[in-house]
Amino acid sequence: MTVTADHTVMAEPRPCERCSKVSLLWVVGRCADCIAELGLQDDRTEYDAWKADVQAEYGRK
Ligand SMILES: [Zn+2]
Repeated sequence: MTVTADHTVMAEPRPCERCSKVSLLWVVGRCADCIAELGLQDDRTEYDAWKADVQAEYGRK
């Protein structure tokens, strides 16, 4: 049986860089809750910083 590693899926509990909550679902250090918050807040600074990290990690699409 061959197991294919999918590097975009991180199913490993890790603390969020932003809120320190341990989460199973996170992208480049931010948990899903934080990413939702980043996308909703008026100040785009944090969201843009997160997006830049995503592009650095996974490349431009
Ligand atoms: Zn968080």
